[in-house]
Amino acid sequence: MIVKEWCMYCGECAGVCPRNLIEVRELTLKFNEDQCKECSLCVQVCPVKALEKE
Ligand code: SF4
Ligand code: SF4
Repeated sequence: MIVKEWCMYCGECAGVCPRNLIEVRELTLKFNEDQCKECSLCVQVCPVKALEKE
């Protein structure tokens, strides 16, 4: 997952992931991509379109 520089670390994406694979901590986003099913919910929910699938 690519995180654009305008991410505001609001945590919306982490809240929506059905598998809880996203961790937002201070100014970093961590994805547990091994288990990602590419449902794209996180991409869709981001209010500023800061996520892009690789
Ligand atoms: S929802 Fe978008 S702006 Fe919010 S933490 Fe996730 S990527 Fe960043
Ligand atoms: S694409 Fe789906 S499974 Fe993967 S991190 Fe985003 S919400 Fe979670």
